[in-house]
Amino acid sequence: MTAAIKEASRESIQTSIEKQKQFFKAGSSKPLEVRKRTLEKLAEAIKSHEKEILQALKQDLNKSEMETYATEIGILLEEIRFTLKHIDEWAEPVKVKTAKTHVGSKAYKVPEPFGAALIIAPWNYPFQLALSPIIGAIAAGNTVVIKPSELTPNTSNLLTKLIHSHFDPEYITVIEGGVETTQILLQQPFDYIFFTGSVPVGKVIMEAAAKQLIPVTLELGGKSPCIIDETANIPLAAKRIAFGKVTNAGQTCVAPDYLFVHQKVKEAFVKEFQKAIRDFYGKNPLTNDTYGKIVNERHFNRLTGYLQDGEILTGGRVDHTSLKIEPTLMVPRDESVPVMQDEIFGPIFPMMEYDALDEVIGFINDRPKPLALYLFTSDDNVSDRVNSSISYGGGCVNDTLMHLATPYLPFGGVGESGIGNYHGESSFATFSHYKSILKQTTKFDFSFRYPNAKFGLKILKKLLK
Ligand code: NAD
Repeated sequence: MTAAIKEASRESIQTSIEKQKQFFKAGSSKPLEVRKRTLEKLAEAIKSHEKEILQALKQDLNKSEMETYATEIGILLEEIRFTLKHIDEWAEPVKVKTAKTHVGSKAYKVPEPFGAALIIAPWNYPFQLALSPIIGAIAAGNTVVIKPSELTPNTSNLLTKLIHSHFDPEYITVIEGGVETTQILLQQPFDYIFFTGSVPVGKVIMEAAAKQLIPVTLELGGKSPCIIDETANIPLAAKRIAFGKVTNAGQTCVAPDYLFVHQKVKEAFVKEFQKAIRDFYGKNPLTNDTYGKIVNERHFNRLTGYLQDGEILTGGRVDHTSLKIEPTLMVPRDESVPVMQDEIFGPIFPMMEYDALDEVIGFINDRPKPLALYLFTSDDNVSDRVNSSISYGGGCVNDTLMHLATPYLPFGGVGESGIGNYHGESSFATFSHYKSILKQTTKFDFSFRYPNAKFGLKILKKLLK
């Protein structure tokens, strides 16, 4: 039986948000002990539902047990553990220096929660991307409404079950639904909106949020380039790039989208890429049960359309019944074909060769700022040049994807690839307003600041120059 999404009514949505706002106003989500206990409970809930999580992701995306554990379960447990370890320190007021004009006073930045937060999640990591932002939201003292993706209904249903059976809906709740439900949610008086999804929908979210001046974080997508220069360790580069491209069958926001390879190492790379795919999935990835499927027929048809956009070097087979597409390396006909225009979001990898690094830098800088960039080189001058001349959200030198799996690095885009960031302390900061408080002394009072004070202007000119 296929899972179905239970769309909520406008009235029930309004009631849920009103209740959350009351819960927040009563201060119920703010005590540090409540936040910690909630995070511990969330970790326990994830652990106790492990089997169901594995099953839902198998049904929705054919994710293997190893992939689901690494990218949907383990990463969340690690984020909760890290947050619990540091939350006391992050929640403390931060004392800052006093300016010479403010002698005698003390100044602090005090983190406070925004209130009721709305989290809108995509389908590609439907469990992780619905829950990862709530770790920061809870740690910072907010209430949370989660809107999972309707395209992965088994995971959406499971999130509802898991959250509703462990938490008070006035504190944390799930509202399932598609575009219509999201639009009703966007009309509610939330205090923060955290959106993960595509660039076009990101614009819809920001426009709706602007109507009520609700602050947003937008975790978006786009085309993330990969560059291999002539000094790179080719077997390792090929293996790590293939890993980045086949994880979740390429349906990863930070998957390497297209490749620039130096002409001197092109042939060696093609061979090593083929070998890496064979090592991961054998001769026919389509029949390997651990290889992911495309989320639905619409995306399958969109992706198979790209196979007409150039010459296929390796891969290219598809299976309509299981919605699987073989990892495919291709040479695009030119830059104008759809595979070089759209975010691919699938296991198809267009490759272009280059001679001079400047061509590559120019090509990338002529396009929207990428969410991720991956450079494979042994030359530090090359990595300095690339990193100082291209703006992008985040990335790796000599690896793919791994920058997002450490809580020590903020994760987010820049320009069209997103606004704001999260993970680790950045999640706590994203869901906190840092209130600036100046505690003035009453032991003395400088009279020069008052209107018409004797020597007032003279002293001010000395102090403020
Ligand atoms: P999407 O933008 O289509 O949908 C995301 C969410 O928005 C879903 O919950 C959906 O129900 C809702 N939505 C869709 N259309 C809407 C509309 N018109 N009005 C209001 N809400 C709407 O994205 P997707 O297809 O689920 O995910 C794929 C995209 O997300 C890719 O572009 C990918 O790069 C990006 N992504 C980014 C990150 C990141 O961390 N930066 C992570 C994962 C995915």
